[in-house]
Amino acid sequence: MAVSPDGGGGEWVAVRGCVGFLAGSGLLNWRLPALCGLYLMSILKAVRGTRDLLPPETELWNRVEATARRVFARYNFGEIRTPVFEDTQLFARGIGEETDVVSKEMYTWEDRARAASEKAQSLTLRPENTAGVVRAYIEHGLGETGLLQKLYYIGPQFRRERPQKGRYRQFSQIGAEVIGPVSSGSESPLRDAEVLEMLASFLDEVGVTGWRLAINSVGSSSDRPRYVAALREALIPVAAGMCVDCRRRAETNPLRVLDCKVPGDQAAIEALPRIADFLDEGSQVHFAALRAGLDVCGVPYTVDPRLVRGLDYYTRTTFEFTHDAGLGTQNALLGGGRYDGLSEMLGGPRAPGIGFAIGADRLVLTLQAGLAGAGAGLDSGSVLKADVFMAPVGEAQGPAALKLARELRAAGLRVELGDGNFRLKKSFEVADKVARKIVLLGEDEMATGVVTVKDFGTGVQSKVPRQNLASELRKVAPLGSPSALA
Ligand code: AMP
Repeated sequence: MAVSPDGGGGEWVAVRGCVGFLAGSGLLNWRLPALCGLYLMSILKAVRGTRDLLPPETELWNRVEATARRVFARYNFGEIRTPVFEDTQLFARGIGEETDVVSKEMYTWEDRARAASEKAQSLTLRPENTAGVVRAYIEHGLGETGLLQKLYYIGPQFRRERPQKGRYRQFSQIGAEVIGPVSSGSESPLRDAEVLEMLASFLDEVGVTGWRLAINSVGSSSDRPRYVAALREALIPVAAGMCVDCRRRAETNPLRVLDCKVPGDQAAIEALPRIADFLDEGSQVHFAALRAGLDVCGVPYTVDPRLVRGLDYYTRTTFEFTHDAGLGTQNALLGGGRYDGLSEMLGGPRAPGIGFAIGADRLVLTLQAGLAGAGAGLDSGSVLKADVFMAPVGEAQGPAALKLARELRAAGLRVELGDGNFRLKKSFEVADKVARKIVLLGEDEMATGVVTVKDFGTGVQSKVPRQNLASELRKVAPLGSPSALA
């Protein structure tokens, strides 16, 4: 194997024998590229920062997503699906030009005009979904219903970040938004408390233990200018000693200085004024009511005065759930906050809202770390086992095995079908790898209507009348439970 000549990620497989033979025969000077072209191929790989998800990991993903749908439904959320690409302006205006996401991480391209009458359009793969949901809220006049809109989504997002464990260029978010006219109660701190309480219930139900919740208030749109002015002033004497981004942001968007992760800048950032000291009475009351709601529900949290989050649209409440297991430095499981002015920023009506996005990749990593520790075997080397391996003992029994498998599947069992090429030792080995039991269907079984069942877990072999087979097999642990995984 050698690195591809184009310097890309593909690797080249050359049939060296072919080259050697041609070199020796003098044909090398003739048409080597044409002759060997057929044998020289680039092995393509998934693009850096993207990945394939395979079974059994996808089982865990499905379980996570199903739990989210179930929990969100209990809080009366409905699903929204927006396109994966949008007009670039949506993100520039909504998220903010000076954020890392917009200034460095977006996948943006000029979409060619298809006709002379059309103009090229700048499009972007969505780096997050809140802006898209609010765009849809405005576009479909959802505010005109006068009702609170409670919408959730599940889907891929795209950011050109430096890939590492828990940080990908295509990643999946499970998120939700609560948005509506003020008269629908969208501004109430009760909404914030309800959303956080729902997230705590979701994490508990999906099986994440040991999460931590940090909350903060970043103030209203009237608190913000006073705080930003104070930040700008405080940055004047220190900005020159900070990183390039901070030096620029000290002038263009001082709030984003607080997102800086450069170690050498942290002391200066720590000494900057805190938003808590600039909250007006309305914001203080709102934040206190949120805390009271969480206290009453028994949802534990800490207040982190530095939690401003990296997107410009947040007002008042911001929050983050973290977890240390399996995540390394990327320990933020999910984040969100209130965005009372976003709809107006996008040209829509006044529509306060609050939302969050769960990093599904990180959630799955956390669960894998926890489950592996508990011996549930959901690491990547494990295989989801079928309830039963249906083994026809000879070609002639093939059709009958197919029919019996069909009956068992109709009864809800997960069935793997063998072929008629049955060899006692080999077939048992294969069946043991993919299923928890094996059903043998040979000439005798066909004649008597009684099949042989072996349980690989207990080693017990038994004879079961065909009509009782489904109920006998169904006695095993339900599909997808940890014990169904080996
Ligand atoms: P944000 O949209 O930046 O507020 O992020 C919300 C959540 O999405 C984070 O807490 C992470 O769990 C997840 N997330 C953000 N960026 C990435 C990424 N590049 N790869 C994987 N997960 C991510």
